[in-house]
Amino acid sequence: MLKDTLLYMAQNERLRDFVVQNRMTRSMARRFVAGETLNDATQATRVLNKRGIQVALDHLGENVSDEREARASTQGYLSAIENVKQTGIGANISVKLTALGLDISKELCEENLVAILEQASEYGIFVCIDMEGSAYTQQTVDITLRMHQRFEHVGTVIQSYLYRSRKDVEQLVAGGVRVRLVKGAYKEPQAIAFQAKADVDRNYIQLMMLLLSRGNFPAIATHDEAIIAAVRKFTRDHGIGRDAFEFQMLYGVRRDLQDMLVQQGYNVRVYVPYGSQWYPYLMRRMAERPSNLMFVVSNAIRA
Ligand SMILES: Cc1cc2nc3c(=O)[nH]c(=O)nc-3n(C[C@H](O)[C@H](O)[C@H](O)COP(=O)(O)OP(=O)(O)OC[C@H]3O[C@@H](n4cnc5c(N)ncnc54)[C@H](O)[C@@H]3O)c2cc1C
Repeated sequence: MLKDTLLYMAQNERLRDFVVQNRMTRSMARRFVAGETLNDATQATRVLNKRGIQVALDHLGENVSDEREARASTQGYLSAIENVKQTGIGANISVKLTALGLDISKELCEENLVAILEQASEYGIFVCIDMEGSAYTQQTVDITLRMHQRFEHVGTVIQSYLYRSRKDVEQLVAGGVRVRLVKGAYKEPQAIAFQAKADVDRNYIQLMMLLLSRGNFPAIATHDEAIIAAVRKFTRDHGIGRDAFEFQMLYGVRRDLQDMLVQQGYNVRVYVPYGSQWYPYLMRRMAERPSNLMFVVSNAIRA
């Protein structure tokens, strides 16, 4: 119930304006967001790199509704790529197609994406296309497959809560496309998505096995210790090396687990969001674990 309310609130513009302008909520967001500037993200990346952790940089923004915003967002990603090259930090890039203008036109979005992939491929930097709500699933898979014919360093994300995901994983694996496997962060109806955690987890484990057996350097993105234990067992039983995949986690979530996996010799990458458009991202993190709301509120009271 609270989860649904938080996901609904993620779309509410008046609430967004209040939260984003409020000094206390801005400081609360810092647990999950590296800061508002690329410089903040670079600092956070350096700290993570020192801990033996790689980074996926996400210049926050989504569902832009005018062309200027889509171009500005593209410029933000291009600056991030340039910065990775110039500073030598250990990071790749995550992009959202709706930040590049997918809601305006597919042509605009693809033009912006090509600009990003051209620059990233020149520098050998991998770009992951995040998966958004189900209205975008088919387009995201189609665009990724098409881009992958031109650019080797592009992959996407598959959500285990969707019934369709096995078919999508099969198609992406057949094309040699790198996949990040997640449970899924949006509110989706029963007609297309598992609702019970047990079902989402069971599907996650099946897709994880498929990706680890046949995928191209998959990313197992979760903080779920039971799933991480299943990954260890599956890879051990099937002789799959630790260099064949990576674990991924979110900035500010289960730092202890991140360090433990690094110590055990696993590749770990942390998703580092930054920028001024952090409101919907923060609300999704609250929805995943409503007790975060208490953490955030108690910090706000102490501040
Ligand atoms: C690197 C990365 C990239 C992602 N990209 C996408 C994407 O492109 N599209 C998409 O739909 N989703 C994405 N997600 C989010 C994902 O779909 C889940 O919503 C999120 O990871 C929580 O699921 P979980 O696998 O950790 O399992 P859960 O069963 O939700 O959580 C397991 C445990 O992890 C901890 N935990 C989980 N989330 C939080 C949190 N927010 N705060 C504190 N503790 C938490 C808790 O201890 C919890 O008990 C991404 C996640 C990661 C890690």
